[in-house]
Amino acid sequence: MKAIIIGSGIAGIATAIRLKAKGYEVEVFEANSYFGGKLSEFHKDGFRFDAGPSLFTMPKFVEELFTSLGEDSKTHFEYSKLDTSCHYFFEDGSHFYCPSQISDFSKMIEKEFDEPAIHAEQFFKKSQLLYEITSPVFLENSLHQLKTYLNPKGIKGILNLWRLNMFSSMNQKNTSYFKNPKLVQFFNRFATYNGSNPYIAPATLNIIPYLEFGFGTFFPKKGMYSITDSLVQLAKRHGVEFKLNARVDEILIKNKKAVGVQINGNTHLADIVVSNMDVYPTYKKLLKNSVKAPKKVENVESSSSALIFYWGINHSFSQLHLHNILFSNDYKKEFDTIFNKQNVCDDPTIYINITSKLKPDDAPSNCENWFLMINVPANTGQNWESIIKEARKHIVQKINRILKTDIESLILTEEILNPELIESKTSSFRGALYGSSSNNVLAAFFRHANFSSKLKNLYFCGGSVHPGGGIPLCLLSAKITSAMIQNPN
Ligand code: FAD
Repeated sequence: MKAIIIGSGIAGIATAIRLKAKGYEVEVFEANSYFGGKLSEFHKDGFRFDAGPSLFTMPKFVEELFTSLGEDSKTHFEYSKLDTSCHYFFEDGSHFYCPSQISDFSKMIEKEFDEPAIHAEQFFKKSQLLYEITSPVFLENSLHQLKTYLNPKGIKGILNLWRLNMFSSMNQKNTSYFKNPKLVQFFNRFATYNGSNPYIAPATLNIIPYLEFGFGTFFPKKGMYSITDSLVQLAKRHGVEFKLNARVDEILIKNKKAVGVQINGNTHLADIVVSNMDVYPTYKKLLKNSVKAPKKVENVESSSSALIFYWGINHSFSQLHLHNILFSNDYKKEFDTIFNKQNVCDDPTIYINITSKLKPDDAPSNCENWFLMINVPANTGQNWESIIKEARKHIVQKINRILKTDIESLILTEEILNPELIESKTSSFRGALYGSSSNNVLAAFFRHANFSSKLKNLYFCGGSVHPGGGIPLCLLSAKITSAMIQNPN
């Protein structure tokens, strides 16, 4: 029995591994000349940059893939746990290091913010509860199969729905836990982990801080790209075939069954087809001759996208860490501009990731590789050239103000990634980072299923389908998708 996977994003690679473990012959077709989609890397002028994700959580989902093929991940993929998750800066000159343990964090807020430690303890207790209710039912299973709801865990999940704070926004709940506005801003920021707006998104998303504080944040010793690379090598060692520069043009359908794919006029037959391409272009391009895209896929509100400056910096900033945030002074205005005006505000929150802090060979000596990102709206045809010019000016001014430097004079090399480029490089609808946004209470149910209800033997995995975007959820989507595919005869 043969399975074809369209795309080598992290979910595509993980699905390939899981189907190989089931006994399928697996072939992955990737449109690009490199693996990993958003989770890729590049080198420029002596600097190495991870192109997309920089925050690594839930490494157990990567380890599971090694175990599924009988290998020990430690031999091929090393990572370490971080003591400090991020360094936060505010415009008024204040800043704080965020410890990664809940107990240390609770002590820190008493000292730095005059906020009782109990507030953080109560918040994280609730965050943990949200995780325990939602994870086994809504994150680790298909939401589109009856059996998910007809077992003890499913029934427990449904009976506990009222505890999920679905009808308050994250900001409302966070304001009820913390009196210091800087702490509210800190907790609101977790909405950006799946590209949502904390002033609208349901407080159920307060599950996200628990993933970071309850389980920790990690750094792969060879950089984020080593997640992709080590998994591709694992898959290859076990016989998964990869074809790069192989853009699938069509999914072939016969008698309402997927039977293979068409690439450059050549037919490749298979028993199972799994699309790791964003689900919207999968319908619009690969299935245009067979079936219409469901309305909910077409009308979905996209998650935010990103504008990234990759800068080779001719200096080492001792006040910066691996992860750094320079907060906006008006967070509400920032999200309003992104989600309601589809634009970029003049005081964006700036995220700076510097892997050379922990992996010195990513930059020449006394230099740093800055991955600088701001959240921006998904691509709906904005004039990105002029937005980037304006945003870059505001970013440079903000960095100069907060870090007391002249950053422009230190930039040795630059590359830029914007929503249009994310869309063209990965086929992600509107260049959204995480598929659809989670601003709606019912967002999880609007996300496309991991299978086609119209065409047999056709499945989907990746950030645009259940359970959503971000590396851990993409790895879970691969797990859910492969679990619903029958073992080969
Ligand atoms: P994608 O990465 O979207 O890849 C899809 C692949 O399919 C691509 O390689 C594409 O070329 C290929 N493809 C598409 N169409 C075809 C076709 N017709 N034929 C063949 N191949 C095709 N997540 C985190 O967990 N932590 C972070 O810190 C984080 N930060 C991010 C920062 C940025 C700038 C970006 C862009 C994303 C970030 N994310 C983060 C999100 C995370 O990267 C994604 O959710 C995840 O990598 C998406 O994986 P995927 O499997 O959906 O596939």
